[in-house]
Amino acid sequence: MAAGSFIDTHTHLCDPRFDADREAVLARAAAAGVGRLVEVGDSPEDWPKVLALCRAAGPAQAVRCALGLHPYYAESCSESLLCRLEQEASAPEVAAIGEIGLDYARAQVAPQVQQAALRRLLAACRSAGKPAVIHCREAYADLRLILRELFPSPPGDRRFWGVVHCFSGAPEDAEALVASGWAVGADGPVTYPKNEALREAFRRVGPGAAVLETDSPYLPPQSLRGKRNEPAAVPEIAATLAALWGLPLEEAARRTSGNAEELFGWGDRGHKT
Ligand SMILES: [Zn+2]
Ligand SMILES: [Zn+2]
Repeated sequence: MAAGSFIDTHTHLCDPRFDADREAVLARAAAAGVGRLVEVGDSPEDWPKVLALCRAAGPAQAVRCALGLHPYYAESCSESLLCRLEQEASAPEVAAIGEIGLDYARAQVAPQVQQAALRRLLAACRSAGKPAVIHCREAYADLRLILRELFPSPPGDRRFWGVVHCFSGAPEDAEALVASGWAVGADGPVTYPKNEALREAFRRVGPGAAVLETDSPYLPPQSLRGKRNEPAAVPEIAATLAALWGLPLEEAARRTSGNAEELFGWGDRGHKT
């Protein structure tokens, strides 16, 4: 596998669980061929940390970030937060706005409040000209309604409006999202033996609209179950998708990285060899 072939499009390496060995985790990722990462900031408190991680990245890796407001914190979606988000999102390290979205499984925030915040944050994506990184748990029907209303047709000038990260919906949700200009993110759960419906979703999506992500330290793939996840696990997720699509691993890496490059406007900067 060519060095730097993979892109982990969703990490939380600023999480305190990486405080003791963040450098080693990044080195293992580089050794596993994960040459680029997108680090995600869930709240304004995280934004300076994820920007600092991008700026401190060594030569073996390129790190960009997404700044957002997780649905857990939707109640704090104020005018001043949106202003600050639009300002900070203009930095060259900021590849996207996110994660933002709907979480009816875990968020202690009323669905109406989450939906109102999501609409305002999606408007911020459009005015900043940045793709959206969307988090969605047990809320696919409402998410699809909101996206259809705010993004009624696929973008004309690029392939994706954004990505529904850690896709966990039904195969029909994946097909509908992809048809309207959204990429879908595949994580560790696609490797779990029981998740046949999730694999069916990625089988139907095919290699044209899927991106790889670990959501580290969360969502470990089968080989790390019960442990902390890390970006070096990306090839395991890629191998599962390659098998679904009937492609060699290298081709699955090339296709998913190409999708991520288009999604984030992040052209190859010499990381492929
Ligand atoms: Zn998420
Ligand atoms: Zn996340």
